[in-house]
Amino acid sequence: MPSEEDPKLFERTTVKGLRAVLSPRKSFDFSCTACGKCCRGPGSVYFTPDDLKAVEEHLGLDAAGKADLRGRLIQAEENGYYVHRAGGACRLLGSDNRCTVYPVRPLQCRTYPFWPSSFVSRTDLEALAEECPGTLKGKGRRYSLLSTARRVNKTRRQFLEAQKEPDEHFMI
Ligand code: SF4
Ligand code: SF4
Repeated sequence: MPSEEDPKLFERTTVKGLRAVLSPRKSFDFSCTACGKCCRGPGSVYFTPDDLKAVEEHLGLDAAGKADLRGRLIQAEENGYYVHRAGGACRLLGSDNRCTVYPVRPLQCRTYPFWPSSFVSRTDLEALAEECPGTLKGKGRRYSLLSTARRVNKTRRQFLEAQKEPDEHFMI
């Protein structure tokens, strides 16, 4: 999660901004290699109440199973989100390195790496490329600057929508 002191957080992601942070590249490229690195933290995974319900249904949990899952998964609650701070690998990551709830994974996971915080500056983008082997390696699917901006702004809108008190500082 980005720092509250960063004034650029209040800016919407624009083609002009992306041109500056991606230069000299003229597009963004990404294809997931299924390495599982982004599920291994450190960091937090944010679940809306609906996300959590979908996970419980997907796993077919009874009342005891739900209580157990919530006990293992929820370390905090922030602005309408349940927060999973595993301190390492997400507890929903399987031993085969795959997400055990992939069809119902939360917004944060579905939208990675198209997060507002990844595109604020060149430094953020370099950190993303270092973390994710599927990003900016020239081998993945190409996204135009416009398409990238649209995806990132959609993530921003969706992440804000689930907040109790809409706050652009509270962003993935
Ligand atoms: S780090 Fe990147 S390549 Fe690896 S699983 Fe996550 S999105 Fe896919
Ligand atoms: S919910 Fe699934 S995709 Fe998201 S961090 Fe956990 S294991 Fe990874």
